[in-house]
Amino acid sequence: MGLTIKKMIETSFLDWDGKIVTTLYVPNCNFRCPYCHNWPLFEKPDEFEDVGHEKIKKYLEEHRDFIDGICLTGGEPSLYTGLASFLRDIKDMGFDIKLDTNGSDPDLLQSLIDDGLVNYVAMDIKASLNERYHAAAGVKVNLDDVKKSISVLMGSGIGYEFRTTVVPTLVETEDVVNIAKFIEGAKKYVLQQFVGPGSYKEEVASIRPFERDVFNEMVMAASSYVGEVLLRGNVD
Ligand code: SF4
Repeated sequence: MGLTIKKMIETSFLDWDGKIVTTLYVPNCNFRCPYCHNWPLFEKPDEFEDVGHEKIKKYLEEHRDFIDGICLTGGEPSLYTGLASFLRDIKDMGFDIKLDTNGSDPDLLQSLIDDGLVNYVAMDIKASLNERYHAAAGVKVNLDDVKKSISVLMGSGIGYEFRTTVVPTLVETEDVVNIAKFIEGAKKYVLQQFVGPGSYKEEVASIRPFERDVFNEMVMAASSYVGEVLLRGNVD
């Protein structure tokens, strides 16, 4: 399946810490996280017009004086067999690449790294790596694949971060500690604040996010295992 892009943010300062990127969104995803905000990309992808690869390349070429690279997100980019060839084109133009993934295809991840097609990967870890994972992902997940992707990244030598969206009931302090223990020795772990309104599932949209004291407790607990633990999003 050729790589389809449905949305392009020409200039983003937010999607790769320290870099200015063009952010590209693929449609479709093999997960159904109830808190997902990009759900129209998998529920109604045909309502978005395709953004042509030539248009993307032209934009990058014309703005290479300040754009460092791309962030490819979605949806789930690893679903596309055309991913590697698209990334190679972008690399050949001299741009850096950040990939966002849910970690469901460790073999593809390994081959992209081996071929030098990604500089940085942000991988979601949705919840404790046990039966609680499936509720947070909205589907039954092959946990062995997720675990393998974690070990691929930790052994890779490229830049990476793991990240968890902290949705009360799906992810509690105990889950953050479980995850941090699992990724012990990782470079960077990001706890993302959850935003209810606009979520894929209504029952999640009304959940009240955790406040700062809970996050402080989570960060402190996770810091015993991981090099750098960060908070992203608005925490009261
Ligand atoms: S992995 Fe989850 S949060 Fe990410 S695009 Fe898919 S459904 Fe949305």
